[in-house]
Amino acid sequence: MSLRTTGHRRSGDVVVALDVGGTGMKCALVRPDGGVVHAERHPTGAARGPEAVVDTILEVAEGLAGKARSYGRAPVAVGIAVPGVVDEARGVAVWSANVGFRDVPLRDLVVARLGLPTALGHDVRAGGLAEARLGAGRGARHVLFVAIGTGIAAAHVVDGSASVGAHGAAGEIGHILVRPGGPRCGCGRPGCLEAVASAAAVGRRYAELAGAPATAAEVAERAAAGEPLAAQVWQETVEALADGLASGQALFDVDTIVVGGGLAQAGALLLDPLRAALHERMTFHREPRLVAAALGDEAGCLGAALLALDAAGGVRSSMEER
Ligand SMILES: [Zn+2]
Repeated sequence: MSLRTTGHRRSGDVVVALDVGGTGMKCALVRPDGGVVHAERHPTGAARGPEAVVDTILEVAEGLAGKARSYGRAPVAVGIAVPGVVDEARGVAVWSANVGFRDVPLRDLVVARLGLPTALGHDVRAGGLAEARLGAGRGARHVLFVAIGTGIAAAHVVDGSASVGAHGAAGEIGHILVRPGGPRCGCGRPGCLEAVASAAAVGRRYAELAGAPATAAEVAERAAAGEPLAAQVWQETVEALADGLASGQALFDVDTIVVGGGLAQAGALLLDPLRAALHERMTFHREPRLVAAALGDEAGCLGAALLALDAAGGVRSSMEER
């Protein structure tokens, strides 16, 4: 999709992009036209504690900038996407369950180390930005990107910018209450969408009913093959997701909902029944286009590159005008 080589405007420039996850970091050097010059992955090593993770981020970013120079290219900005609560305006990783960040001024640390304009973003919002501007939501002005994996989170992107919220916590669609009195969520409250319909929840629910473990992908396949318990769990999942997405549509009135994350790999097994269930829930609201994400697990890194390009200033169009 987005990463073909075309234009050569400022072709010597690249941005350094990092998408820091709970287990791994996806890193790249990206040209203003979207071409990936170099990509690498590193373990996050979250068990070592947040200080060690920050050190690794700084080392990897510095290493990438050095690689750019060794290729005869100028690193012009850095974009970093991290999970949890992120204050993008201040460049602070406020809180993260799986990496352990507590008020880490990551942007200033990168600026101090590399001396380059740096943007810090939220991983799902960065992924949503990339899907909206370069992926499955391309061409739509109002996009809701929903990542369904271990948890469920969303990014609301309007005209190429993702809404951050007053406290850096916009888009927590996984914590919409869909089943009062339902299974307890990681946040402590029973009945959140994430507690019912995340990939982890699907596996848990099936194990509960069938007495044997299965991944969400296996549940989807068994449901398609006609296994009654799997079909029941899958149906419950789809209904809960449709309730959550209908709330999202009531709030945001988007053109396109892009569904990503691990559960979206079920493809039509998820998208077809979900589209039908969402259709049933529309009253006066306009029904959004419901599509699968196009960028896979590169979305967060590409989104970090977009944030870096925006931070570098004035190069946004180069990546998207094709
Ligand atoms: Zn919750």
